[in-house]
Amino acid sequence: MKPTFHHRLVNNSFEDPCVYVRVLREKRAFLFDLGFISRLSPSDIQKVTDVFETHTHIDHFIGFDIMLRALLRRETPLKIFGPANIIECTEGKLKGYTWNLIQEYPLRIEVFGIEEGFIRHAGFYAENCFRRKDYEKISFDGIVLKEPPFEIKAVCLKHQIPSLGFSLKEDFHINIDKAALGGMGLPVGQWLSEFKKAVRENASVKTEFKISGKRYSMKELEGIAKITRGQKISYISDSSMDEANIKKIIDFVKDSDTLYCEAYFIEKDRERAVERHHLTAKTAGRIAREAGVKNLVVMHFSPKYREFPDEPEKEAMMEYNR
Ligand SMILES: [Zn+2]
Ligand SMILES: [Zn+2]
Repeated sequence: MKPTFHHRLVNNSFEDPCVYVRVLREKRAFLFDLGFISRLSPSDIQKVTDVFETHTHIDHFIGFDIMLRALLRRETPLKIFGPANIIECTEGKLKGYTWNLIQEYPLRIEVFGIEEGFIRHAGFYAENCFRRKDYEKISFDGIVLKEPPFEIKAVCLKHQIPSLGFSLKEDFHINIDKAALGGMGLPVGQWLSEFKKAVRENASVKTEFKISGKRYSMKELEGIAKITRGQKISYISDSSMDEANIKKIIDFVKDSDTLYCEAYFIEKDRERAVERHHLTAKTAGRIAREAGVKNLVVMHFSPKYREFPDEPEKEAMMEYNR
């Protein structure tokens, strides 16, 4: 099965966190957190349409300026989703520069501040020298972005301040059965993309496709599409160790194919983890195990473990595989 989303940590686990998600067959990508993004190529950055910020501590938002610099002349808008204060933090960043010569630039930034029950929305547009424009509040039922065939959900967590967790879920995945294709004597080609699009959009069985000069209806082709469960990728960063918070995370990341989870402290520094409102590696392992996650990636380690860089992952995996 060819996955729809390719995802990876941009940095090593001691650098400021950031996960890059590439949407296959589209010139599009998402970012979970805007930590250290200097390792992304200019073309990687150009593809980013949506950014999902857990919170605006400096290690998670420092990449904003580099992204802004790269996107100033881009036509496609940039959307940023984050906790309630993301609008003020973005405004503060933008106010740190002088913008008298950019009215001709196309960039539009839409910012969404997520709280329990509603989302605040503000726009910052180059044509208007990035002055803030407020819109009406939108209600929030857990989904922050829905663009079939996928949706992105957020959950409000605690990190002394509000912090968000995110999950990206594909509605379903369409696999082409090559044997069935061969059996019908049909070649692979561009028509398959149109066919998949039609399946995704639940097109009428009478929809026709022209293949090697012949016409085939959706009904005739139905045997070549195998529908399987879509991918789910979750991202949890700085989050408190209290049990209610942990339970909320387990519920939210349930059955993820991949979970990216912070492991800032190890269990022997549990007290420090509680004090600093971070998870331990062992807790990350427990979350992944109890949630039935298929693949756990731990990240965002305290610099105090630089001398034992494998320790947090070892501890998390031991608990995960228990
Ligand atoms: Zn952090
Ligand atoms: Zn933090």
